Amino acid sequence: MKARVFSGVQPSGNLHIGNYLGALKNWVQIQYDYESIFCIVDLHAVTVYQDPAELRAKIEELAALFLAVGIDPKHSAIIVQSAVPAHAELAWMLTCVTPVGWLSRMTQFKAKSEAQETVGDGLLQYPVLMAADILLYQAAIVPVGDDQAQHLELTRDIAQRFNSLYGETFVMPETRLPTVGERIMGLDDPETKMSKSAPGSGHAIALLDPPDVIRKKIMRATTDSNPAVDFDRLGAGVRNLLTIFQAFGDWPEEQVRGRFTGLGYGELKKQVAEMVISCLAPLQKRYREIAAEPGYVASVLKQSAERVSPIADATVELVKRRMGLYTQR
Ligand code: ATP
Ligand code: MG
Repeated sequence: MKARVFSGVQPSGNLHIGNYLGALKNWVQIQYDYESIFCIVDLHAVTVYQDPAELRAKIEELAALFLAVGIDPKHSAIIVQSAVPAHAELAWMLTCVTPVGWLSRMTQFKAKSEAQETVGDGLLQYPVLMAADILLYQAAIVPVGDDQAQHLELTRDIAQRFNSLYGETFVMPETRLPTVGERIMGLDDPETKMSKSAPGSGHAIALLDPPDVIRKKIMRATTDSNPAVDFDRLGAGVRNLLTIFQAFGDWPEEQVRGRFTGLGYGELKKQVAEMVISCLAPLQKRYREIAAEPGYVASVLKQSAERVSPIADATVELVKRRMGLYTQR
């Protein structure tokens, strides 16, 4: 039996090139080596307020984008988290073995709660639900961006604590980062991670941005006061642009150095923009085809949920038995 891969994205805004280079590109590359489950984590998205109509639309848009980037629904499952109730059920059981102190020191909790007037409990619980998403499927590999590495460590801590309290139950999941592009930074502020939920029209490049918008955003990206690309003293903004070029083009580092050393920032930006545009064009075309096919995305989501539900239910059943909770069987 093949080991299982699990990963997810929140339908909390427009999917951007950070999500693609940090996570989805990796999913596509490794999907056939494993039994793969990719998830639209809508229960995570509502840890901060989402407009209901927009959220509903984003869920299907995201599913179509998963397909457009190359997730093969004949092989990999594409599921919506809230369509498989076992995610929330297991999350409660894991909540009960998780110390609050583990949660309150999470970097994402601190950053996201800072921006809220009232901090919802969901924001604190977020990593427990994420642990449940992964442990529910006994996933061995979790391909994510670098920002999720801390939550993965916590997932392992929770699994270990459960296993030691109740006996061996969960597979220990391994974090799988991409070789290049594990943390793409905001174009407007290269000190901050590119995020779906961050404000500012120049912050992120969405996968569905048209070419002229991509050009404009990259040409306006924050750089530094150096006259040209110098690999011995790269500013964060220039480094980010070079990473985007390298990750999209799958270029070796040496070749990137050779091409850009001494080049002015205007020319660098032009070349990065053209690389991004040419890599996103086929994906955008496929997205339009998929989105135009009535019922297709919904049928993939339904079939996938049916496929994975028995795995999820079996884990919940096992956890209940381990904990002494009531089961009918
Ligand atoms: P939000 O602002 O709503 O949290 P996000 O952009 O952080 O959105 P998520 O849905 O939280 O996106 O994360 C989806 C996946 O994309 C995760 O694997 C995460 O590690 C990865 N990811 C997110 N942002 C980046 C980034 N800037 N660079 C690389 N990977 C990223
Ligand atoms: Mg995030």
